[in-house]
Amino acid sequence: MNMHQKVLFVDPATGFYRTRKYGFDRYYGPVDLGIHLADKQNSLNFGVGAFAGSIFPGSNRMVVTGRSPCWQGLYVSSMGGAGLVFNNLGINMLSLVGKAHSPSVLYLNRNHGEEIEVEVVPIEVDEIWRSGRTGVYALTDHVHRMFGSRYEKDPRILVCGPGARETDFGGIMSVPISQGKISAVDTWAGRGGMGSALFQSHGIAAIIYGGTVVEEDFRDKKVADGWFENKYHLKLREKDFEATAKYRFDEKFSTGGTLGVNYATMGGRIMAFNYRTIFDSEEKRCFLHQRFILDHYLKQFNEETIAGKQQATCGEPCVAVCKKMNGHFKKDYEPYQTMGPLCGIFDQRAAERLNHHCDAMGLDAISGGAVLAWLMDLLDTGTLTPEDLGVTEVPRWDLERFRVVEDSQHNAELGIALIESILSRRGIVDFREGIRKWSRIHSAGRGVNLHDSMVYIAFGRRGWMAPNQYWVAGALAPMTIMGKYYMVYSNDFLPPRELGQKSAGRMKAELILDNLGICRFHRGWAEEMLPEVMGEIYGCRDQFLRAISVLAGRLNSHNCPVFWESERDIDYVHTFLKRKREVDKDEHPELTRWLEKFAADKVEAAKDFWYEMLKGINESLDEMF
Ligand code: SF4
Repeated sequence: MNMHQKVLFVDPATGFYRTRKYGFDRYYGPVDLGIHLADKQNSLNFGVGAFAGSIFPGSNRMVVTGRSPCWQGLYVSSMGGAGLVFNNLGINMLSLVGKAHSPSVLYLNRNHGEEIEVEVVPIEVDEIWRSGRTGVYALTDHVHRMFGSRYEKDPRILVCGPGARETDFGGIMSVPISQGKISAVDTWAGRGGMGSALFQSHGIAAIIYGGTVVEEDFRDKKVADGWFENKYHLKLREKDFEATAKYRFDEKFSTGGTLGVNYATMGGRIMAFNYRTIFDSEEKRCFLHQRFILDHYLKQFNEETIAGKQQATCGEPCVAVCKKMNGHFKKDYEPYQTMGPLCGIFDQRAAERLNHHCDAMGLDAISGGAVLAWLMDLLDTGTLTPEDLGVTEVPRWDLERFRVVEDSQHNAELGIALIESILSRRGIVDFREGIRKWSRIHSAGRGVNLHDSMVYIAFGRRGWMAPNQYWVAGALAPMTIMGKYYMVYSNDFLPPRELGQKSAGRMKAELILDNLGICRFHRGWAEEMLPEVMGEIYGCRDQFLRAISVLAGRLNSHNCPVFWESERDIDYVHTFLKRKREVDKDEHPELTRWLEKFAADKVEAAKDFWYEMLKGINESLDEMF
């Protein structure tokens, strides 16, 4: 088994490339090495973990590291399954330095141990994005037509869309290809805008890769079962089946996947209409949840997707089959939340239409949906006019008169029009330098801060991130990487210092998964088991865990957190705390104290709460050496 990582460095400006090996004495995976390279030479890195190609389920994630255009800090993003084919290249990481002169495809192929073939081929990307299935889907088809026949085994293709050029939150999309057939199950490295980094900083619109190299990966089922039986009294497959129930089918709720289980269980924690529901009574939120989610949005999903068993994997063999489909529409909770209830959409047809368009244009769906909901809010309050935003309609957000199918459809059409405004820079819309800077410029002279109604986390001078879709204080924690699950997002009240400490702990646990290229849906066993396996196979359990602490400290040393700039951020945390007391009847004495502080002066209380979290984070991540 390899005790090193082999990195292919490519400069798209010249097509020059070289390889270098990094031993397992300092860097153990795609995150610690990728962050080192990104920090040192501002590269964008695509890597797989030590268990890629092994028998461990979920071990073929492709991990992207680099400087995030929207967050403006070092970032880690990942996509499922794309590491499986990457492993056939016989390298562990691709590192891009430099920029192609015009938008290009990077072609990587390696046949039977021969030297890797590297080509940088310019393409007419605008024409392609407008053709056929449009956007990322058209580019996938085009690149496959251009290069597919050169591969002995099915390749995989990473692509970006026009959103990567026109915004700082463009994602990277990829679909499994099997026997020459391009599937409909798209997987994304969406968070962090790594598509924007790929396109804008490196001039690469697509990467096609594959090969026939067979690595010596760990595939001894008997040995693995022995480890699992010792720890769990279950075989590997049995433990994995148990740990991934939520993502497959949860009998308790008669649904499955993140969309199914989250909507079945959230009740009064529903967030809709750009989070305005945080100001509603619990009764009103429960009414909305019952009438529009349980009786319609979730019902459609259960009848069409769950009952119809329309499910798939990201491309690797996996019993979780977490990709819940309806025809060619893939349904995850967060995109169908931001481009669902958050935009005033409660009908699957309408949500499918908007989500599909946003995906085709190559935008990170969570950020995209959050931005659309904010723009709709600004239209609904009359703060901005349709002309300002280059559209002709305003949203229909009146809950009393809401017609679930028609008004959802209307709001989805408006969402699509707003995406066109973003991509074509209509009216005053121009998000190339991020929404915070845009808001600062266009708030001037209006007597109102446009961003006061946007829920986001601020970082440095202009970095921003739409939070994960859970109404909890941890979703807005001042962690060094936000927008993924490097924080605590359970619905429990924790005093802020403890919340910071526990978020730091979650960051380390998630880094174990990311640095091994493991899908977090397998975290029920992977977090504790795989460091042990690193010890069994490579004899480096303690060194690996030490490297995780150093990595967490290194990332934290780059933290530039900014106190919640938006009033809705403060209200988001305040109303979460109020709900904990009033609805969940949490009697924690610290909760009482914080509620009193917020009642006296919400801005001062929010500052104290935020700084307490930051203290908890910093005191837990100081293991730099
Ligand atoms: S849980 Fe989903 S994303 Fe993760 S490995 Fe399985 S199919 Fe892929």
